[in-house]
Amino acid sequence: MRAVDIIAKKRDGEELTREELAFMVQGYARDEIPDYQMSAWAMAVLLKDMTARETADLTLEMVASGETLDLHGVAPILVDKHSTGGVGDKTTLVVAPLVAATGLPVAKMSGRGLGFTGGTLDKLESIPGFRTELSLDAFMDCLRACGVVVAGQTADLVPADGKLYALRDVTATVPSLPLIASSIMSKKIAGGADAIVLDVKVGRGALMETLEEARALAERMMQIGRAVGRRVTAVLSDMSQPLGQAVGNALEVAEAIEALRGGGPEDLREHCLGIAAEMLLLGGKAQTRAEALEQLVEVLESGQALERFCAWIAAQGGDPHVAHDPTLLPRAPVIVAVPSPQTGYIERIDAREVGLVSVAMGAGRERKGERIDPAVGIMLGPKVGEWVERGAPLLTLHASDRPSLETARERLLRAYAWSAEEVLPPAPFHDILR
Ligand code: URA
Repeated sequence: MRAVDIIAKKRDGEELTREELAFMVQGYARDEIPDYQMSAWAMAVLLKDMTARETADLTLEMVASGETLDLHGVAPILVDKHSTGGVGDKTTLVVAPLVAATGLPVAKMSGRGLGFTGGTLDKLESIPGFRTELSLDAFMDCLRACGVVVAGQTADLVPADGKLYALRDVTATVPSLPLIASSIMSKKIAGGADAIVLDVKVGRGALMETLEEARALAERMMQIGRAVGRRVTAVLSDMSQPLGQAVGNALEVAEAIEALRGGGPEDLREHCLGIAAEMLLLGGKAQTRAEALEQLVEVLESGQALERFCAWIAAQGGDPHVAHDPTLLPRAPVIVAVPSPQTGYIERIDAREVGLVSVAMGAGRERKGERIDPAVGIMLGPKVGEWVERGAPLLTLHASDRPSLETARERLLRAYAWSAEEVLPPAPFHDILR
């Protein structure tokens, strides 16, 4: 077999066999297929799509590029969650310790920033000392020690996704249904989860802009999960504007800590409680949503969720004192408030543009393997549906220097729209597929 023939076959819209997919995926994981051929193949998949059969085979080949964890010796039932990616999406930072504090262990493989969306691993690495590259033994030890572990793909665990993910990030091949579905589900299957809650984002700040596209992605992932005996729920959640107020790695960690203290923005709290409740239901920890919410609010308000966060951060080598002293997190040298140029109800905050601006400020990557700046980002003020007076604070920029601040300010002001008429804030959830 030759990679060039398989690329041409997909370019011409034909269906690839399991053997051809194995050749590409295993060859790439073993460094036998170069980046330029894999990029061309990924672009052909993006343009020509894949059947459900091809997507499932691709997923299983990605899983087979490494080992599959069996964590039942550590926890009888493991529940995982995964977001398809959004702007300001720090859900895992809140939900993982929150769910673990109710007694349901969470072992999770996450990703880095992808395109204009942020990545959980990048956020966590803004905590001094925090390690996301764990050996299998370290992964198990951490889960045993505190009931939570969040790590990246490794040479042992879905290495094919680790490489392809980084390549897609910088080759404009992120928004492809089969590539997203196989990337997410391979991590979940290899990570040993029995039950999976998929947080499928919809809107300008998501990889799927319409409800129809998001539903199709959710259904494809659910099919793959069920075929390998996993219980899967998909929540279609709003990403028309960023989630919460913080966009940028260290800023998002600080906001997640606020949420774990029982504070933070209301939309973030509501979103995290909703996702966590689905995890409790799927993991058999609660019989009804109301029962799940009651348990979650209890561990949040009693401080147990924050305690669990500290134990988890320490178990992965990070400084748990960040939970009580956010000044230990990286801080940008230039911090400037931007006033609103208009009076009115906020009608739109284009989440995609906010994500792109944060990447341009240094919070994400424009080239593979590039270092990111953990301190930079954007703190939003009023969100969609809220009233703002001209001259009142609209947002605050945390930049590395003046020129990047000026460019960000100009672009962000164009991402907003104001209305004299009252505007309803978007509903946090559009649908739940069980
Ligand atoms: N999250 C992933 O892990 N992979 C994708 O392709 C998109 C979101």
